[in-house]
Amino acid sequence: MYDLGYSRPASIAEALELLQQDDMAQLISGGQTLMPVLRARLAAPSQLVDIARLDDLRQIRLIDLGIEIGAGMTHAEVAASPIVRAKVPALAALAGGIGDAQIRHRGTIGGSIANNDPAACYPSAVIALGARVKTNLRMLDAEAFFAGMFTTALEPGEIVTAVQFPACVEACYLKFRNPASRFALVGVFAARLGSEHRIAIIGGGNGVFRWHEAEQHLDRGADIDGLDAVPLDLSNFTGDIHGSAEYRRHIATVITRRALATLS
Ligand SMILES: Cc1cc2nc3c(=O)[nH]c(=O)nc-3n(C[C@H](O)[C@H](O)[C@H](O)COP(=O)(O)OP(=O)(O)OC[C@H]3O[C@@H](n4cnc5c(N)ncnc54)[C@H](O)[C@@H]3O)c2cc1C
Repeated sequence: MYDLGYSRPASIAEALELLQQDDMAQLISGGQTLMPVLRARLAAPSQLVDIARLDDLRQIRLIDLGIEIGAGMTHAEVAASPIVRAKVPALAALAGGIGDAQIRHRGTIGGSIANNDPAACYPSAVIALGARVKTNLRMLDAEAFFAGMFTTALEPGEIVTAVQFPACVEACYLKFRNPASRFALVGVFAARLGSEHRIAIIGGGNGVFRWHEAEQHLDRGADIDGLDAVPLDLSNFTGDIHGSAEYRRHIATVITRRALATLS
């Protein structure tokens, strides 16, 4: 790692001031992505601005839409929250399946979506449920927030403060794990919002995306077993040492069917 400074601001305003004063400063939350990146010398910020313990980012509460989860809530806290478990049980289950115990007790929802790793679990729920991402500047719809692999609509110095999800009990997240990292080789979040089906896929390699053809197929009342014949564009998938694009597409179809089969 390079030499670098470290500050722990007492408020969002103080964090923003630090970022404004130094354009080489970088936010750190759980550090579960950023620390390995720094250790591998793939980034060289001048200082880390630690927002992990800011009270303003650390609550889960009921709102008109459903629930609001502060950006600093860890995956373990989301998984254990009675509010999340009651209002969006599939989201609690998703958080409880991220990485291992250390990752879950340090990593945060804000860090995960700001990082937008194409294999990260949360973006699938954010997109499938039509969640809203709150920052210090604005409210962004899910589809406007994610902008491809490791890219989001966040401007330099903008901080994710919370994510708002609609209540939804008709949803299921399933992932096909890479046994080494426990990241998803492919993950699918399937939900029914009223009469509308929503299916979001991660792990394809290019970033989270919706399988619109399958959603339309299901909205017409067609059978889950017919999904094999529904087009799923291969350009959404890339191959690597863990699996080819064709393999990932096949897995996506299989686990979509399994996730949908759990909905009543
Ligand atoms: C071995 C391993 C296995 C993992 N398995 C999984 C898995 O199965 N599923 C999964 O989804 N993830 C997995 N992860 C990733 C993990 O969930 C991370 O916690 C998450 O990606 C980043 O969250 P963080 O709070 O640690 O962010 P950090 O590492 O602190 O930050 C990540 C990035 O986000 C920025 N950032 C942080 N907070 C904010 C904010 N509030 N606003 C704006 N920018 C911000 C930082 O500047 C940095 O660029 C795994 C990681 C490891 C190392």
